[in-house]
Amino acid sequence: METQGEIQVRPLSWLTKEKRPIVIAGPCSAETEEQVLETAHRLKKTGKSDIYRAGIWKPRTSPGSFEGVGVKGLPWMQKVKEETGFPVTVEVAKAKHVELCLEFDIDVLWIGARTTVNPFAVQEIADALKGVDVPVLVKNPINPDLALWIGGIERLKKAGVKELGAIHRGFSNLGEKFYRNRPQWQIAIEFMRRVPEIPMICDPSHICGRRDILQAVGQKAMDLDYDGLMIESHIDPDKAWSDAKQQITPEVFGEMITDMKLRHDYEDNMRLQSKLDQLREVIDHIDEEILNLISNRMNAAREIGQYKKENNMTIYQPKRWNEIIEKSKVQAKELSISEKFLVSYIKAVHAESIDQQEKVFSE
Ligand code: PEP
Ligand code: MN
Repeated sequence: METQGEIQVRPLSWLTKEKRPIVIAGPCSAETEEQVLETAHRLKKTGKSDIYRAGIWKPRTSPGSFEGVGVKGLPWMQKVKEETGFPVTVEVAKAKHVELCLEFDIDVLWIGARTTVNPFAVQEIADALKGVDVPVLVKNPINPDLALWIGGIERLKKAGVKELGAIHRGFSNLGEKFYRNRPQWQIAIEFMRRVPEIPMICDPSHICGRRDILQAVGQKAMDLDYDGLMIESHIDPDKAWSDAKQQITPEVFGEMITDMKLRHDYEDNMRLQSKLDQLREVIDHIDEEILNLISNRMNAAREIGQYKKENNMTIYQPKRWNEIIEKSKVQAKELSISEKFLVSYIKAVHAESIDQQEKVFSE
């Protein structure tokens, strides 16, 4: 068992230890018994999927959309287990859903993005899970709030849930055109840095909202060392009752996973990692030198501040400042650094110098 801050959990060992990445696939929604079973059998045939997903209760943005088949879909999931051997996972949004899933032997539960935003709902689910040993995956909230996402994990952990995982499905953003939900990878990366013992699964389907970029987004997650993928797959995607644009057939799903470059095997990975560590050491050393130089530069700025103060001169001298900016644009070209970066760097250093000199003036 590993410890990190508040959270102390057993990783999803049976899910992720032996096979990494773990792949969860299945339709956005369970629609009919035939659709659920046919999807499962066709996914089984690809040999690329480990867990079967289907939404039974669908939290939809607008009323009138298909809101899921409800409890009658649960026996279909049981049949999937019996006929294919897949463990199955279903989204839960309230205590009643948890109760029903447990009654029908659902193996893994997931909490959807619209539920993670609401601490009352997550707490209700956590309370319903007290004393129950079932793994739970928590999707990121629809808003880019890392603390809320980690908070959801903490609530479940406090309720005694031992096997936890996170699903990165992107963040809703007004005006976003390319993605359905902007990935904002840095938020998931920061999650992994803060709670490394929680496996991170990427859900390219809800990030993309379309088929043509699914593979690239899934690959990016693999390159970022995610632990798994959750991908929506439907036997006849264009006719799906929900999220039609982003679903792919089991066969296309199979090809997609086959074509992905997955992590190197463990030994290879260790070797690559140690080489990477060496290269990073060079960078760390250079960063240290840069910081020392910046510190020396600030000492010099304070000295200049003292001189200006003694001679009644102003701190900020626009002519000199313009010269510096113009010079940095020329230097950017010579050094193959973008002008945007160099100018913002110089501006940041200049702003700090002025602050330092103002301090000297007020002493
Ligand atoms: C889903 O997985 O079908 C779903 C509703 O996802 P999200 O909660 O990410 O919108
Ligand atoms: Mn969906």
